[in-house]
Amino acid sequence: MQTNASLLNDELAAHLAEYKFLVGVSIDGPGPIHDRYRRSSRERSSHADVLQEIEILKNHKVEFNALVLVSSANVKRPREIYDYLCGLGINFHQYIPCVEFDARGRKLPYTISGAELKAEWNDLCSICPYLEFCCGDCLKHHLYNGNPPQTVSWLCAGWREFYQHSIPLF
Ligand code: SF4
Repeated sequence: MQTNASLLNDELAAHLAEYKFLVGVSIDGPGPIHDRYRRSSRERSSHADVLQEIEILKNHKVEFNALVLVSSANVKRPREIYDYLCGLGINFHQYIPCVEFDARGRKLPYTISGAELKAEWNDLCSICPYLEFCCGDCLKHHLYNGNPPQTVSWLCAGWREFYQHSIPLF
């Protein structure tokens, strides 16, 4: 189940825990980043509400992960977002590119481009024959030893071997 957690309370959290729901909570980073495009209908900040509701999920031991919309608000700050979520005790993240156009096909302000995403890759990935399958691998595999996001994945050699072996078999 995916939610912005805005209507979550103890009763609902107990229900989710009892029936073993896996909940994806939308959170795009620290307050100023999250609130850039996630304000309530009255233009209020929603970040504090999300933090409060994450605490409710934790208290009820509901399994959850973070759904991060990668928009123009956070696309250039991957390390900060990743560290922030880990600091909240959230170790499972999904990063979803935000790509939306208006009725005339013009890019909306929060939309990111492929070039912006690519800027956080290692140059090796840009020319890798397995890029369409691997997509540079998960961000968390880049950040070992305090490395910047552009570091090639720790698992790169293994991925290459895997794709080299398996792709001809499909
Ligand atoms: S296999 Fe390695 S070089 Fe190729 S896309 Fe994946 S991480 Fe990048």
